[in-house]
Amino acid sequence: MKSDNCIFCKIANGEIPSSTVYEDNDFRAILDLSPAAKGHTLILPKAHFDDVTNLDETLGAKVVPLAARIGRAMKSGLGCAGFNLVQNNGVAAGQTVMHFHLHVIPRYEGGPEIVTWTPGETTAEDREETAKKIAAALI
Ligand code: 5GP
Ligand code: ZN
Repeated sequence: MKSDNCIFCKIANGEIPSSTVYEDNDFRAILDLSPAAKGHTLILPKAHFDDVTNLDETLGAKVVPLAARIGRAMKSGLGCAGFNLVQNNGVAAGQTVMHFHLHVIPRYEGGPEIVTWTPGETTAEDREETAKKIAAALI
């Protein structure tokens, strides 16, 4: 279902023009307006889902193979050496547009770090306790 005041619904459905890399019945893949690297692409479902927690499972099963296809095309078409798949869920995770999207970000030899974090430390006890909390909450 499309949401009336969602910019990615409008872009995905062609009501607002975009630099489209790929389109089918389910998705439109567009270039990001403020790219992390040349060719940074966003895969948008045409239907509205706030984030991955309510994404339709059939579309979810299609989106990673599509990202792989686009990533391969970035390597052969743009000459990048690799690519990152990034997908933010919730404001705390850096999501700024509340319509599910998967970032496909080309990585070039010698290019800047894009997805990075400082590795933390844990104990075996802490990992055990944390794993149990997640496992117990799975539905
Ligand atoms: P998020 O932070 O929600 O994971 O990513 C949103 C992305 O959408 C950002 O990288 C931002 O540059 C991009 N973006 C926001 N508005 C527009 C727009 O109107 N058109 C395009 N092509 N990209 C957009
Ligand atoms: Zn939307």
